[in-house]
Amino acid sequence: MSKFAVIGLGRFGSAASLELMRLGHQVIGIDSNVKFINRLADHLSHAVIADATDEQALAELDIPGCDAALVAIGENLEASILCVLNLKNLGVSQIWVKATSKAHHTILTRLGVSRIIHPEEEMGVKVAQALNYPMVNQYLALGHNQYLVEIDIIPRLKGSRIQELLADGQAFVKAVLVKRRDKVVSPVQPDFVLESHDSLVLAGSLDILKSLAPKLS
Ligand code: ATP
Repeated sequence: MSKFAVIGLGRFGSAASLELMRLGHQVIGIDSNVKFINRLADHLSHAVIADATDEQALAELDIPGCDAALVAIGENLEASILCVLNLKNLGVSQIWVKATSKAHHTILTRLGVSRIIHPEEEMGVKVAQALNYPMVNQYLALGHNQYLVEIDIIPRLKGSRIQELLADGQAFVKAVLVKRRDKVVSPVQPDFVLESHDSLVLAGSLDILKSLAPKLS
């Protein structure tokens, strides 16, 4: 279990903090607006009214003891930047920040935060990918153009063997596992026969995975 601070409990910050709680972590939620604190008080480990531009206030909340801090203050650029500076001064090493503009991104890059998040853009890309490849439930970029993708096996592919689906791509794409209802099959053999609505997880380079799309959709 890790301990996280989520600063700013608007739509983005509250969704992130509730998911971290669901994943079994400890979360200190901070917002300057009592309305947002009241809404989440019963759902987070701690929910505290505080101004994140006040370094002393953050120090008293033991933010330096957190494994990472997520700054989810969107519209108020000044507050977001001051909050990041305070976290840096307090020695927080993992600082993830939601950015809302190009200028915000540029300043955060200069400040050397761990990760800059653009939720609208990132979600927009995911939605476009989902529209383009509706059979892809999830994907994970592993770096160096390598991806893990979870594919929903459509009824038309019922009875197909994995080797038939991968065909020429077999040398470059690895079938990692198959999830069938509540069971996971791994390792999975090339002659494994798929059922409709199995989830097939493949690993490989983006261009090869893309070339398989027409067969899988
Ligand atoms: P979202 O899209 O996540 O709803 P947003 O991008 O519109 O949010 P804001 O509403 O500006 O972003 O900020 C998110 C939260 O951050 C709000 O609940 C706001 O009260 C809180 N917040 C703003 N400034 C501070 C501050 N100085 N200290 C603590 N919380 C703050």
